[in-house]
Amino acid sequence: MVLSDTLQDLWELQLLDIEIMNLQEKLRNLDRGKELKDRIDFLSNLYNKKNDEMRKKEVSLRELEIELSSLEDRKRKNEERLYRDVTTQKEVDGLTQEIQHISETKSSIEDKILELMESLEELRNEIPTIKKEIEELEGSLKIIEDNARISEREILEKIQVLETKREEKSKGIDSKLLARYEAIRKNRRGRGMSKVIDGKCSECGVELSLSIVEEMKHQEKILTCEHCGRILCT
Ligand SMILES: [Zn+2]
Repeated sequence: MVLSDTLQDLWELQLLDIEIMNLQEKLRNLDRGKELKDRIDFLSNLYNKKNDEMRKKEVSLRELEIELSSLEDRKRKNEERLYRDVTTQKEVDGLTQEIQHISETKSSIEDKILELMESLEELRNEIPTIKKEIEELEGSLKIIEDNARISEREILEKIQVLETKREEKSKGIDSKLLARYEAIRKNRRGRGMSKVIDGKCSECGVELSLSIVEEMKHQEKILTCEHCGRILCT
């Protein structure tokens, strides 16, 4: 086989390799919904946190309501005593003071209850909204995942076809040349060969020396780019 034919075969092999590489890249970059998953995780955590917060606040509210009702009891009993049982001014003063104190505590608890109720109202609005967003995102994620699975299968099938073609193609190429091509390819972004166009190596763009350009015309031996080391072809 003449050298130009061998180089042509190797060039075609490289075209297959590039196609395979591009498909592998496509496979790596396939949108599998990573961003959506992160957002869903974030919202799920938020949802759990808000639910915890709501439960804690509900417990606090119940406790405060119990406290309030016992204060009301105490206040009422003291008021009854004030009108019924007391005889001295000292007792009147003592009870009045206590009633006053209970009223102040009551009022501060009522403030807290109001605050809690407002905050609970907010949470009760917020929580279903978060849940709804999670459900919507999960729906979108499912579509993305299904599409990714379909694309993945298609790409893998294409790669399989190309691999088979590659194997066929490489059978016709001298094993030493093939090994050389593979070795260069490893360190040169998957491209072991380069076309000479206008006296330049098309891969690295460097101008080739006149002697190489001259030798290329005769194509008697394998030539490589003086700069990137790739096997040259025309
Ligand atoms: Zn080069």
